[in-house]
Amino acid sequence: MKREITCIGCPLGCSLEVSLADGQVVAVAGNECPRGASYARQECVHPERMVTALIPVPGRTTPLSVRTQRPIPKDKITACLRVIAAARPSLPIRIGDVIVPDVADTGVAVIATRDLA
Ligand code: SF4
Repeated sequence: MKREITCIGCPLGCSLEVSLADGQVVAVAGNECPRGASYARQECVHPERMVTALIPVPGRTTPLSVRTQRPIPKDKITACLRVIAAARPSLPIRIGDVIVPDVADTGVAVIATRDLA
């Protein structure tokens, strides 16, 4: 089985042709550097994404912006967003504060990306 993906490792955006067998990457073509092959293996076998979101804060017009500390498995995004939506952080909040310590059993924290006094 072959899959076409675009590498997001740099602005060049190489078109990668990924050959898969039994769910594993057996060959990658079209990458201009080794990072493309690494990206293809990650994306085709265990895709991950950073998650960003806004949490409304009662009494404030400005919501709290948050993100996962590192990428999480793509199939955990919906669960992650549910947990973030249910979060009720108390003020004040500093950039980098942990809002959810282990979101959706990923072992990854959700942190604030701005101060909110
Ligand atoms: S394969 Fe290398 S050069 Fe091509 S987009 Fe990815 S990181 Fe950039």
